[in-house]
Parts: sequence; structure tokens; C-alpha cells
Amino acid sequence: MTQRYDIAIVGSGPAALEAAINAKIRNKNIIIFGNKDFSGKLIKAPKINNYLGFYDIKGTELKNHFEEHIKNMGIQITEERIDSIYAMGEYFALMANQKQYEAKTIILAVGMEYGKQLKGEEGFLGRGVGYCATCDAPLYKGKSVTIIGYNKEAEEEANYVSELAAELHYIPMYKGEYDLNDKIQVINDKPIEIKGDEKVKKVIMENDSIDTDGVFILKDSIPPGQLVPGLEMEDEHIKVNKNMVTNIKGCFAAGDCTGKPYQYMKAAGEGQVAALSAVEYLSEI
Ligand SMILES: Cc1cc2nc3c(=O)[nH]c(=O)nc-3n(C[C@H](O)[C@H](O)[C@H](O)COP(=O)(O)OP(=O)(O)OC[C@H]3O[C@@H](n4cnc5c(N)ncnc54)[C@H](O)[C@@H]3O)c2cc1C
Repeated sequence: MTQRYDIAIVGSGPAALEAAINAKIRNKNIIIFGNKDFSGKLIKAPKINNYLGFYDIKGTELKNHFEEHIKNMGIQITEERIDSIYAMGEYFALMANQKQYEAKTIILAVGMEYGKQLKGEEGFLGRGVGYCATCDAPLYKGKSVTIIGYNKEAEEEANYVSELAAELHYIPMYKGEYDLNDKIQVINDKPIEIKGDEKVKKVIMENDSIDTDGVFILKDSIPPGQLVPGLEMEDEHIKVNKNMVTNIKGCFAAGDCTGKPYQYMKAAGEGQVAALSAVEYLSEI
């Protein structure tokens, strides 16, 4: 039988880590999903002067302190990206790479993607546009697929999908070396719009266009409204009250994903409140 956790924390930035340590202190059985760098935004910060107790610290140094802290508390990050979450009534089912995890409550601490959506992205979602290439790859067997990759992890998904697709175009949104197999065509152009009629037909770029049956947009995080169907949003942020409670019972949120200001301390503070709210909710069910 699948293990059912008390709290599943989605994300591994300051909001998620603070939620994790507080849930652990309250003796809850937790799982936290994210990556070993914790947060791209954390390791990129050149100098931080507004995190109390750490004057003039680099993001990478603060990351090391966070790492030490969670290690001392026996907390480990499960390195998976959660692709979708379903409220099943008594519990939540979290899907990652064909695997399923279960938890009584969830805390969304997924951060914010600063980049805007592409024109046509939302309109064609589910009609040729997707956020998890490995999940939907079988739908594109023998077809033409385009992957817009925002990070190196997207390359792994591209290699997998290329085994099924007839052709695969990879548009990297970052610089570097690409570990892609020979079947994949790398396109160095800027995507602007996704076009089609009933379904996706084309990706329009700054200088050219590609005919394609499917487009996968692979970023660090998935828009929260897509991640958890039914989650109430307020513009691009998750709607929460002051206890970090969302509109879905047992679902809490913290950090940049709940709104501005985008700051470490605010994210951590909200993570703590979310964890305590989850603990209180668990005592009532
Ligand atoms: C260059 C730079 C400098 C900055 N400097 C400062 C500063 O000096 N002071 C300050 O206060 N703030 C600063 N910030 C802002 C700060 O980085 C953010 O406010 C903070 O990181 C938000 O924390 P968070 O936990 O909400 O989200 P994030 O730090 O964005 O962490 C979210 C993490 O969750 C992961 N994730 C998302 N979705 C999923 C999923 N579905 N499954 C698994 N994992 C997932 C993401 O990959 C990411 O690693 C800076 C930001 C940048 C980019």
C-alpha cells in the first residue's frame, strides 16, 4: 500500500524548507519535493542583506546554511517534480513521473516563474500544449513534437520523448552544452506564439516557424492553477488568507506563489504559518 504522508510540501525554496522544519518539529510525517539546489533564485542571488541574522551573504552561502539546518533535522529532499495534484477527498494524490504519492495535506511552495506565458499557451493547453513531456509522450507517438526547455532537466525529458516522436525540435531558453541525442534538432530562436485551430499546428518564433503537433513548455514550476485543478487564483498568484489557507480543504500555500513582495523572509515566514495551519488542520480531521 502507498505510504500516506501527513504533509507533502511541493517546492524546495525558503518557503518550503521553513514549512518542513516546522512540520518536523511538530512531529509530522512529511515529504518534500524539489531539487538539490533548493532554489535557482537562491543560488543566483549575488548578495543578500535583508535576511535577518545573515548580513552580506551570498545566495550560495545561505543555501549551505539551509542545507546544514535540514540535514541536522533529518529532512531530505525528494528530487522529483510534481506534475499534477488531485484532491481525492480524504487525501491528495501527487503525480511525478508516472509515480504517485499520497498525503493528507499539501503545502504549495512552488515559487513564481517571472517569465510571461507565450501567446496561445493557455488557450491550447490540453490541445497540444503540455507541461510534462514524459507524462504525455505516448500521445505523440510518430508525431512532431517541440520542447521549449528552460533548464537542463528538460533535456532528459526531450531524450525520452524523442524515442517515441517522429521528430523532436528542442528550443533551449538557456545557454550551455546540451546533452541531447542526435535525433533531436536544436533550434536557437525565440518562441513567440503557439498557433493552430482545434489543435496546435505551429510554433512561431522571432525568425522562423515550426510545424508541430505538440508543444511542451518545461520550466522549473508549473502554473499552480494547472498543478492543482480547482485551485483559486488571484491574477497569477494563489489566493490565501492570513493563515495561508487556500480554497481547497487541506491545501495551503506559501512564498512567492502567494504574491508580492518576492523576498526570502516573507517566503520563510509564510512557510512557517502554512505548516502550523496544516498541523492544526490535521488535528481536526
Ligand atoms: C537574482 C535574485 C536575487 C534575489 N535577491 C534577493 C534578496 O537579496 N533578498 C530577498 O529577500 N529576496 C531576493 N530574491 C527573491 C527570492 O529569491 C524569492 O523571493 C524566494 O526565493 C522565494 O522563495 P520560495 O520558496 O517562495 O520560492 P523559490 O525560491 O522560487 O523556490 C521554489 C522551488 O520549488 C521548486 N518547484 C516548483 N514547482 C515544483 C514542483 N511542481 N515540483 C517540485 N519542485 C517544484 C522550484 O524548482 C524551486 O526550486 C532574489 C531573487 C533573484 C532571482
